[in-house]
Amino acid sequence: MAKKDKKELVIIGAGPGGYAAAFHAADLGIKVTLIDPEVNPGGVCLYRGCIPSKALLHLAKTKEEAMQASKWGMKFEEPKIDIKKVASWKEKVVKKLTEGLGQLSKARNIEYIQGKAKFTGKNELEVTDNKGKTSGLSFEKVIIATGSSAVGLPELEIDHEKIWDATDALELKELPKKMLVVGGGYIGLELGSVYAALGTKVSIAEMTPGFLPGADRDLVKVFEKSEAFKNVFFETKVEKVKITKKGVKVSLKGKKEEQSKKFDCVLVAVGRKPNTQNLGLKALGISANKKGFLEVDDKRRTKLEHIFAIGDITGEPMLAHKASHEGRIAAEVIAGKKGAAYDPKVIPAIVFTNPELVWCGLTEEEVKEKNKNVKVVKFPWSASGRAVAIGENTGLTKLLIDKETEVILGGAVAGKNAGSLIPEIALAIEMGSTASDLSLTIHPHPTLSETIMESAELFYGGATHYKKS
Ligand code: NAD
Repeated sequence: MAKKDKKELVIIGAGPGGYAAAFHAADLGIKVTLIDPEVNPGGVCLYRGCIPSKALLHLAKTKEEAMQASKWGMKFEEPKIDIKKVASWKEKVVKKLTEGLGQLSKARNIEYIQGKAKFTGKNELEVTDNKGKTSGLSFEKVIIATGSSAVGLPELEIDHEKIWDATDALELKELPKKMLVVGGGYIGLELGSVYAALGTKVSIAEMTPGFLPGADRDLVKVFEKSEAFKNVFFETKVEKVKITKKGVKVSLKGKKEEQSKKFDCVLVAVGRKPNTQNLGLKALGISANKKGFLEVDDKRRTKLEHIFAIGDITGEPMLAHKASHEGRIAAEVIAGKKGAAYDPKVIPAIVFTNPELVWCGLTEEEVKEKNKNVKVVKFPWSASGRAVAIGENTGLTKLLIDKETEVILGGAVAGKNAGSLIPEIALAIEMGSTASDLSLTIHPHPTLSETIMESAELFYGGATHYKKS
């Protein structure tokens, strides 16, 4: 294998972590080589995750809003779904964005290598292209950003025909009449909502007593009111599966009973695991911890001075925006920027269902567990003019505020466009803002953002549009 010149910085994986690191490093004057199996940057997020699912969730929301409008005097016919056209539109969105990233990469003179990288030494790796051809290269520094992949279940082996993973579901090859989603977490709820809106009868089997374990329970209650799914089985696991010509016969074991149900297909969405296998980490002399993650310091440096790691492989939460932030920090550290460190107070989480569920910082459950001196204020959207005008009466905004210092410690919102509201709460927490900073900031009327201002007003006893009875 012929060795080429030493690369200054190699980044393995071009997802939101890897490409954000690559672009920022190049902007800071570093010569970057970016390696990924896809033809353009984007990773799971753009090709098989966040972006295609959001394109489809947009359609789901459009349908739900059109159907809801009939209550207010604007009646639409039940929509006809052209599944091929929907799939082609989603592909166009993915292509436009990934090609755009390709152009941004070229514009920054980043060397983009299509293939899979594996370490062969402390400063060397080999790249295998899609045809199986390998070539070697040596490097000064590396950022590992290889992301994560779906966890499987032994009793539900993915066959991509009747037992699907999220990638199969996003391909939209067919519209099953009846589908079981195993796992009521982010992916289960988002993709379950898409198929339900497209006309599939969706059932969910979730192992724990509720959707989204770990999320704020008030938010989950708001989502449950939307009754998005045909059947929901909590505290239930799939015990046995029989694949027949017609579909899948599943035996569901709940706390009290076991029942047998038939579906056309099953979507497995029970979590993700970091991609640290097949990376040749042994050649570096580093290994993943018990949970499979690579341990890094606040500079995103592994125990080796010249090897960095970012994104899903460094630990929970496995979120694209956390990966991008880590990527930019690692790039700054490598460029020698003083004080660059990964030190966020909060990482906002968002589930793009209808209603959207978002939260950041301290949760009410943590307040109870840690016995914190915190006041929880909740502003119901039935008291917001804008929410009522768009038929979103069940929404909720809540803030968790330190009783003594009045500093905002956490926040959660459920409702339409809640995802656009959470950055204000995240910024407030990052800046150490108090409830009065929020209550004294003039928020435009009539907007859903006022629910944040009025939640803060509640801390002091009363909000303009809401009085607790
Ligand atoms: P998840 O951890 O969000 O949810 C998995 C769910 O499956 C949990 O509720 C868990 O209790 C349940 N479960 C586990 N084993 C089970 C079993 N045997 N039977 C029934 N239920 C079982 O995982 P996910 O939905 O696969 O998503 C993976 C990760 O991808 C998320 O943690 C998140 O970080 C990321 N993601 C984020 C977004 C977003 O930001 N909007 C969207 C999709 C995915």
